[in-house]
Amino acid sequence: MSRVLEAELTWSGAEFAPHVQVVVDADGRIAEVGTLGRPDAARLPRVALLPGFVDAHSHAFQRGLRGRGEAFPAGAGSFWSWREAMYALVDSLDHDSMRRLSARAFAEMRDAGITTVGEFHYLHHEREGDFALDDAVIEAAADAGIRLVLLYSYYATGAPGRPLEGAQRRFATPSPDGFWRQVDRLAGVLAPHTQTLGIAPHSIRAASPSEIRLLHGEACRRGLPVHLHVEEQRREIEESLAAYGRTPMALILEAVEGQPFTAVHCTHTSDDDMERFLASGGSACLCPLTEGNLGDGIPRLSRAHAAGGRLAIGTDSNNRLAMLEEMRWLEYGQRLRDELRGALPDPAGNVAPTLLDAATAGGARALGIPAGRIARGCWADFAAVDLDAPALAEVPRERLLEGLVFGAGSEVIAGTFVGGKWRGRGER
Ligand SMILES: [Zn+2]
Repeated sequence: MSRVLEAELTWSGAEFAPHVQVVVDADGRIAEVGTLGRPDAARLPRVALLPGFVDAHSHAFQRGLRGRGEAFPAGAGSFWSWREAMYALVDSLDHDSMRRLSARAFAEMRDAGITTVGEFHYLHHEREGDFALDDAVIEAAADAGIRLVLLYSYYATGAPGRPLEGAQRRFATPSPDGFWRQVDRLAGVLAPHTQTLGIAPHSIRAASPSEIRLLHGEACRRGLPVHLHVEEQRREIEESLAAYGRTPMALILEAVEGQPFTAVHCTHTSDDDMERFLASGGSACLCPLTEGNLGDGIPRLSRAHAAGGRLAIGTDSNNRLAMLEEMRWLEYGQRLRDELRGALPDPAGNVAPTLLDAATAGGARALGIPAGRIARGCWADFAAVDLDAPALAEVPRERLLEGLVFGAGSEVIAGTFVGGKWRGRGER
């Protein structure tokens, strides 16, 4: 049965408008939007509806690292020293702890206004070959009621030409043929209206160019999105140059024959490679809070953005789960690097709509799902903003988006709808 919602304000894509009604059908999709004047609408007073945020890159279990790896008695740390702490956590997890940690992360995501997670899932095994942790993630997403795009990771080597070692053996996937058999098994256990698949060759460290070519070709044939970690660290580029004589981005672009994919991070990607990547129709997924925590660096986005860059945002290591913070730090990183304000403006000079687009429609595009907009045919996934929240007091309606993005945190999120189903902030 369909139902009708009418919030005090609804984001139209350009402004917060009053008197907008949204009709949600029985499957949880938006059947109609507009000033419909339906008398049977459920009113949401003092609430502004935004499209639910789309977290395009997460490793949910890494929420278990909170508080660890933040002391440096032996001197400065790095991504690589952090990775040792992450591997220690990997070694300790079983199906139940993986499900518990992931469900907690997903529930906290909903409290931050996130309604879809692109879970880049590479930790497959409790015991060698069992794939028990794949099911744990799928169950956790259902527990939290978050929309899941399971980006199923292919992981074959520890570095170009090097076998998996230690904790990495828990990431192992078989040959591309065996990998697709596992994808087929998972397709059979996903929830029909809230869970879909994509694939994620982990990085050029974990998959060879020829494997990426095979995997990407089959994913295109099946209509699945493809995500890879690309050039987060300078060492990844150095190893790739030593092994293949090319940068990771150049190798991947060649392997996918100019077809689109989502590149996560692009922290050290050259301007030329970035331009070629964007010309191919790809999306760049940035993870500002994680990149800051890990000391990765700041990508040069201004040229890419000016060229019509398609941006998405991920919470990645989930050390802090706060999408409004991710949005403002996407802009702040550029401001700090370039010593200017207004680094990612839209044609009218507004920054907040660019950041909101990255956190909603840009992420949905990267994940291949109809979401991220309050529009007919999209999933009825919304973030409900509390207009009485102190952080928004006296912010005029025409500047509410800026007030949210630059002046508020997750405490202004009253709750979320996923497929039209409500969950209040903090409800479990
Ligand atoms: Zn990642």
